[in-house]
Amino acid sequence: MVDSQIAARGIRDKRVLEAMRKVPRHLFVDEALWDQAYGDFPLPIGEGQTISQPYIVARMTEELGLKGDERVLEIGTGSGYQTAILAELSKQVFSVERIPSLLQRARTVLDKLGYRNVMIKLDDGTWGWKDYAPFDAIMVTAGAPVVPEPLLEQLSDPGIMVVPVGDEYSQVLTKIIKRDGKLFTETLEGVRFVKLIGDHGWRV
Ligand code: SAH
Repeated sequence: MVDSQIAARGIRDKRVLEAMRKVPRHLFVDEALWDQAYGDFPLPIGEGQTISQPYIVARMTEELGLKGDERVLEIGTGSGYQTAILAELSKQVFSVERIPSLLQRARTVLDKLGYRNVMIKLDDGTWGWKDYAPFDAIMVTAGAPVVPEPLLEQLSDPGIMVVPVGDEYSQVLTKIIKRDGKLFTETLEGVRFVKLIGDHGWRV
């Protein structure tokens, strides 16, 4: 998976490649899908949600430029797979999920794999996680109509956020850098995520 789908498409960060080699992706999907877990596509995880394609996980992670000492906020825990990758690469991960059954399953898998640097809560993640803000890096793994304002506020200075922004059918992966009190925005590539549903996202 890593050689043919990820390194071959230009992901160079050695730590990201190593994390993607290490985390057992199949454990984050239903056993019936284990033989497809390392394929070049997203997979259903229940509740109409999906685990992202491996390449997209790697790309979004690489863009955060993690060195190992960061506090990272993830919105949309889903299967917990992206959470595990972030936990391999940073000091602490705070992840928010709005669907209870997904959160429960993700928590079980992450506990089983021994990730002690992950905190997950059930909530509308478009509000961020104020108690633990600010965050050196923020990753949103659902498609937003606009960049949620609370997340911009909870981003450290300097800090980096990646978030898919667009309509419900397609989005552009957007990277926002906060530096010296200013925001710099860069667009990366077209993506398709499930909807970010919440007060600062889609209403339904
Ligand atoms: N990173 C996940 C991707 C899951 S899909 C993975 O690797 O599996 C996106 C997830 O975002 C879904 O689980 C969905 O329930 C969640 N989500 C959507 N809107 C949300 C919100 N406002 N707050 C928290 N989670 C949200």
